[in-house]
Amino acid sequence: MTVRADAVVIGAGAGGLCAAATLSHAGLHTIVVDDKGRIGGRASTEQIDGFTVNIGAIAIELGGAFEETFNTVGAPLDIRVPEPASSFFIDGKLIDVGRGGWSLLLGQLTKQASRILEKFADARSGNLPDGRQSTEDWLKSYTSNASVHAIFRNLCAAIFACNANELPARAFLTYFTSKGAFKRFGFCPQGTIGVWNALGTAIRRNGDIWLSTPAVQIHTADGRVEGVTVMRDGQRVRIDTDLVISNAGPKATVALGGETAFPPAYVAQVRSGLRPAANIVINIASREPLISHPGIVTFGKTRRLCNMANLTATCPELAPPGWHLYVAYAVPIPALGDFDSEAEVELALTDLREQFSNFAQAKILSTRVMRDDWPAQRSCAGYDLPRETGIDGLWCVGDAVKQYGNGGTQACAETAKIVTDAILAQRPRMPQTGRV
Ligand SMILES: Cc1cc2nc3c(=O)[nH]c(=O)nc-3n(C[C@H](O)[C@H](O)[C@H](O)COP(=O)(O)OP(=O)(O)OC[C@H]3O[C@@H](n4cnc5c(N)ncnc54)[C@H](O)[C@@H]3O)c2cc1C
Repeated sequence: MTVRADAVVIGAGAGGLCAAATLSHAGLHTIVVDDKGRIGGRASTEQIDGFTVNIGAIAIELGGAFEETFNTVGAPLDIRVPEPASSFFIDGKLIDVGRGGWSLLLGQLTKQASRILEKFADARSGNLPDGRQSTEDWLKSYTSNASVHAIFRNLCAAIFACNANELPARAFLTYFTSKGAFKRFGFCPQGTIGVWNALGTAIRRNGDIWLSTPAVQIHTADGRVEGVTVMRDGQRVRIDTDLVISNAGPKATVALGGETAFPPAYVAQVRSGLRPAANIVINIASREPLISHPGIVTFGKTRRLCNMANLTATCPELAPPGWHLYVAYAVPIPALGDFDSEAEVELALTDLREQFSNFAQAKILSTRVMRDDWPAQRSCAGYDLPRETGIDGLWCVGDAVKQYGNGGTQACAETAKIVTDAILAQRPRMPQTGRV
């Protein structure tokens, strides 16, 4: 069977859905295909024992390309902002840095705070270290304070899913001085999938989303994209189109098109340039409160645990009455290489038992190690590939092709914006073409 569409988006993750919503809003009949049975990719949601549990992302950053996309396509963004949103949990003490920010936090821990803060100011005016120095080495030149190093490690882990010795200092400083840096974020009361459902409604106004439908081949000829073959209800369906946006990651995209279709330099970049990052997600239900802070806490000295969110404090509907729902994140060592999943999960659990004296009464709903082909980040910040693939009409979006130093679903939305801006600038505005 063959159908036609103005655009095909492979993957209903953050980047794919933002791109599809923008294109369908601009008049291009767009079909999104996803191999999973639900939208949202690594930022989706599942039900476990009556709890609404997120698979990956929980904190939705407001502002930037993300919120702009929702506004442009007329999709409601249902986010509840915790107050206070971010704190640090250091040696059993909660430090709310809401108003004082970095200076309040560092000022309590080290006499070298002003030297580090000066470097942040330098970074803000564009004076950044080169991309080779790690965040850990950069910090070592200003302080050896173990608590400060622990916090920087856990910030790298919480935001970029890697350790401080794996993240370029340039990417860390770029994020905290010129990106959103999760200054304003909230949780979706339906689980993170709620925000994608709103984009899905916008997409279906001039397009469709086919779930449980893997793309099995991208067709190209003479350096141009010509279509995508998908498996739908057990049948091969070819979708003819001259525009394909892949949210499957560059590696899977090259596999779908066949290496020989792509310029050799791009294939080489895909083979050696990507640095997938791993993390561990532990969803916890508890009758007793573990922490009173309503937003996200970042820990000080830990083995692997980096941060934890108190979801039911702002979104009680995520859990049955009488229960608290938390999600804790840990990052293995190394996060950008091979590791023993079982041992790393055990270290994270040891941290949780140590941080919370009443942890034994809590119930673990799920433990998920995000790695390999289902990683925390398809490429760590500082190691992103281009969004262009070397094939006309075939683009990548998502967290392997982020702008330098950006992170999270915000960064994925930004990739979609850059790609769709470029596409729409070259095309006359299309009339709505109706359903295929
Ligand atoms: C544990 C964890 C916590 C996180 N926390 C946050 C957070 O709090 N806030 C935040 O903003 N970000 C967070 N992130 C990061 C964020 O979730 C990801 O960066 C983002 O969701 C990745 O989106 P993406 O656009 O790359 O698409 P993906 O999520 O990778 O989605 C791509 C989709 O394409 C599908 N696909 C792949 N191949 C095919 C094929 N051949 N055919 C059809 N479909 C295909 C996949 O199944 C998937 O559904 C977190 C990530 C993790 C893992």
